[in-house]
Amino acid sequence: MNSFENLGLSEAILGAIKELGFENPTPIQEKAIPVLLEGRSDFVGLAQTGTGKTAAYGLPLLELIEQDEKLPQALILSPTRELGIQIADDLRLFSKNILNLNVVNVYGGASIEDQIRKLRRGAHVIVATPGRLLDMIRRKAVNLSKIEYLILDEADEMLNMGFKEDIDDILSATSEDKLTWLFSATMPAEVRRIAKNYMTNPVEVTVGKANTSNVNIEHQYYLLNNRDRYNVLKRVVDFYPSIFGIIFCRTRKETQEVAELLMKDGYSADALHGDLSQVQRDKVMRSFKNKTLQLLVATDVAARGIDVDDLTHVIHYNLPDELEFYTHRSGRTARAGRSGISIALITPRDERKVRDLSKKLNVEFAQVKVPGGEEVCERQLLHFMNRIKEVDIEENNIETYFEAINNELSELSREDIIKKFVSLEFNRFMDYYKNTPDLNMKSSTQKRAQRANESSDSNEDRMFINIGIKDGIDVPRLLTLIHKQCGVRGKNIGRVDLKGVFSFFDVEKEFTNDIVKGFAGAVVGGRNVRIEVSGDRPSESGGGSSHRKGRPRGERGASDRGRRGSDRSDNKRESFRDRKRKTSNDSPRYSERKKREA
Ligand code: AMP
Repeated sequence: MNSFENLGLSEAILGAIKELGFENPTPIQEKAIPVLLEGRSDFVGLAQTGTGKTAAYGLPLLELIEQDEKLPQALILSPTRELGIQIADDLRLFSKNILNLNVVNVYGGASIEDQIRKLRRGAHVIVATPGRLLDMIRRKAVNLSKIEYLILDEADEMLNMGFKEDIDDILSATSEDKLTWLFSATMPAEVRRIAKNYMTNPVEVTVGKANTSNVNIEHQYYLLNNRDRYNVLKRVVDFYPSIFGIIFCRTRKETQEVAELLMKDGYSADALHGDLSQVQRDKVMRSFKNKTLQLLVATDVAARGIDVDDLTHVIHYNLPDELEFYTHRSGRTARAGRSGISIALITPRDERKVRDLSKKLNVEFAQVKVPGGEEVCERQLLHFMNRIKEVDIEENNIETYFEAINNELSELSREDIIKKFVSLEFNRFMDYYKNTPDLNMKSSTQKRAQRANESSDSNEDRMFINIGIKDGIDVPRLLTLIHKQCGVRGKNIGRVDLKGVFSFFDVEKEFTNDIVKGFAGAVVGGRNVRIEVSGDRPSESGGGSSHRKGRPRGERGASDRGRRGSDRSDNKRESFRDRKRKTSNDSPRYSERKKREA
């Protein structure tokens, strides 16, 4: 492996990055730094987020900057304010041994006058979001005539966010002699177009596989009923007591709702989306970055450029419509050489999407069972035990009371103390989880088997008949035909599922023989009728039309009631959490947070 020393960087920069703990260059740094240091060519770097791109262009850029030049020499465009701030912070750290290097941030949602004032005081490097910079260009508040290096960071995200025209305008407003360095995780047609129109023979470097997700990410999905989505989310979060992650939703409304539900249920969560003011967003981001917040619920756009390295999980509360968004989302975890888990909560309708993602991104998805109550309890208990083992004992604080505590517990055996201790912490939690339902969506094969079972338990037989919609049959016609041929009335017929060239219907068992006999030798529309008792039932989503006798919807209502019942038991836990928060502020989640803060 190459070392930073061999890449041609100065002592000042080498000293600064050493202090930051950068020991060896990442692949994109190894390839980009020597090329960019020459300051002669345009450059396209394809690498995922979190691979060290900022230093890959930042370090050579800092070497190339002329300190005595008063007008800005470098312009870095970033999709979001958060990423822009991060880039500027990184550059300041990298340049700490280079005197008087001024980096100025320009972004929307903050006072433009302040930013203009800072620019007037002198900037070597501007880090800007496209919209605000264009505003400044139009007001003639920024002089870009001396820009020699223009860097597009996360170019694909900028284009995804609708900055296409702004980028075109900015690129045109800067000198033709400048060098353009473009970094992107993916290379969609629009990014290609920019490279083609605004760059001259760029050196192109790809690190890892463009368009694929980070190799350290484990991709998983849970198959569920849509109505269980939120409860599955809670189950997953409870199953990973040390989770620190982002939950992605598709709309601002959904984001807000999920965040509110989680907060109400006592989780350390908050929302990040475009309906919040900049002040609110900053506050949420601060809490998330310093880890006082464990779960960030966010929209795709709001979460752009979030630069937090040690996310353990990314949860797709709903899968995004665009494949690229999936890569961006899951790329928030497993950054800087770490590993992470990307979990998609999907219904059967999304299974095709998962297959598509798997094929196009060349990643494997593992279907994971939604953990049951017992598994969650076991995890939580083990986690708690580990915390006990690891906690530092504050001798000074305890010493004063130790004798009294000892006396108080002297009657109890070690085993009793452990049991009582665990009961105190977990009784309600375990009570809650004891009778929680299985939240896994059954596969269609399992569902068919279950239906066949139900059928064999019921007083009906499921019949197969080789005529269907293509024979001009509909439910009334079929019922009339059955009555005519067999003398069995519609009220004795149950569910009917019409398919193209065959159909299924249920009949009360006492009439099964009449049906078989009645159709023996019958001819309908020129075809010999074949009828038999079927052990199987078609899947409900299999198309065709269907009919049910009695109160078909009533059955669904019953299961809904069951579900509401389970929701109620979820609420029981809310009160448990709330009470714990009010009384001791020492829920597992809370203590975990404290531990992280420490
Ligand atoms: P970036 O892709 O620039 O956002 O970088 C992702 C993370 O990796 C940041 O926290 C950087 O500080 C860190 N990083 C970048 N380069 C290195 C390196 N060579 N060694 C260790 N960490 C690095």
